[in-house]
Amino acid sequence: MSNGNGDLIWTDDPPFAQNAKRAVDDSQLRHNVRKATATIRERRAGLVAETPDWQALRASGAAIKDDVLHHLDGYLEQFERNATARGAHVHWARDADEATQTVTRLVQATGRNEVIKVKSMATQEIGLVKALEDAGITAHETDLAELIIQLSHDRPSHIVVPALHRNRAEIRQIFRDHMPDAPTELSDDPNALAEAARLHLRRLFLKTRVAVSGANFAIAETGGLLVAESEGNGRMCLTLPDTLISVVGIEKLIPRFGDLEVFLQLLPRSSTGERMNPYNSVWTGVTQNDGPQNVHIVLLDNGRTKALADDTGRQALRCIRCAACLNVCPVYERTGGHAYGATYPGPIGAIVTPLMAGVEHAPELPFASSLCGACYEVCPVKIDIPTVLVKLRADAVKAQRHKAQDATFAAAAQAMSGRRRWTAALKLVPLMRFIRHGAPPPLSGWTRTRDLPDPPKQSFRDWWSNGR
Ligand code: SF4
Repeated sequence: MSNGNGDLIWTDDPPFAQNAKRAVDDSQLRHNVRKATATIRERRAGLVAETPDWQALRASGAAIKDDVLHHLDGYLEQFERNATARGAHVHWARDADEATQTVTRLVQATGRNEVIKVKSMATQEIGLVKALEDAGITAHETDLAELIIQLSHDRPSHIVVPALHRNRAEIRQIFRDHMPDAPTELSDDPNALAEAARLHLRRLFLKTRVAVSGANFAIAETGGLLVAESEGNGRMCLTLPDTLISVVGIEKLIPRFGDLEVFLQLLPRSSTGERMNPYNSVWTGVTQNDGPQNVHIVLLDNGRTKALADDTGRQALRCIRCAACLNVCPVYERTGGHAYGATYPGPIGAIVTPLMAGVEHAPELPFASSLCGACYEVCPVKIDIPTVLVKLRADAVKAQRHKAQDATFAAAAQAMSGRRRWTAALKLVPLMRFIRHGAPPPLSGWTRTRDLPDPPKQSFRDWWSNGR
């Protein structure tokens, strides 16, 4: 039975610690991730340094998003009114099941069994491609990295660069093995790989009549949506087909068109290390005889209102999915994205996954951090990820309280409640010797990676009362 969360958590995956151990043993993976994140990190740092009002832009971005979160109901209704007035059809989805059923029904209503897709985290999160496949509809990813992932039956490992864990030799092999129209003499030259993908995708763009997208921003004032991208595949999907279905998280709202001035400076610098995204496509409902004439927008909750109800965690909904926090994270750099076992990896994934799915379903993720604070420093909308992590750690401990742990603390409280009891308890300290190198569960979680010190032969109290 479905959990309603789609692919928000990969329930068939082992816990983070197990995944991470396997990942750090893979030197090729670590090399690929380190090289890619270092490149984007340097580009971003250079662009931020040349933007004198960067901190003011960050503050504005955070304030605009906080305004949205505090008045979300009003902005959603305003967006629906304006989008509908411009000819779009707005649908509401409480969870992944409702969203995938709505999209499937809309595609079936067109009589087609193929769609082209713009890269979208919301559609990843709800497991849309699999749901469409189950209904006999083939969804073709058109973003180059997503295409690589789809062809190799892999999973994305990064929010902006989903195939970041692959190098070009691996990509050439994937194209050779899985792309039927790839040239037989395909080299691993990046231009040759891009050209092979371009020719493969162009045929799909020209024949497919239905497209599915997400959106980076939904503008309440106009009812419009914006997709920012680098390859132009998004522009093709958003303009060529007859039917366009966009799945949009409800936190993607911004109040006014003018707010894009802030976000279109923050996003490209933070995500791909560019001053501007090469393609920014904005569409508002239907324009007669221009672009898709059948436009649907599915507004997705899937745990977002749960996150909104968390006073500390709410700020995670400011996220514009730039992935800057992944690129600076020492944990992500060593484990890559798959270790997190969820659609959203890295520092933002470590908070947004438990906030949206419930911390009891991802209790280990808030611990996948060194709390160094680098993620907070780079976040363009000032999400205080370390503070949210610490709060979620407390929630996770509460959710997973172990009976033995409760009993240990109750016994300690008793022992410390009077001098005689404490003195008697200290007589037990020499027993520590027996668990020094391996305590039984749940203490084994502590001694697995640490040795307890040798207990002293004599307690301080005994030494004192024996005349020093
Ligand atoms: S938390 Fe901040 S840095 Fe991380 S993806 Fe979201 S907006 Fe970007």
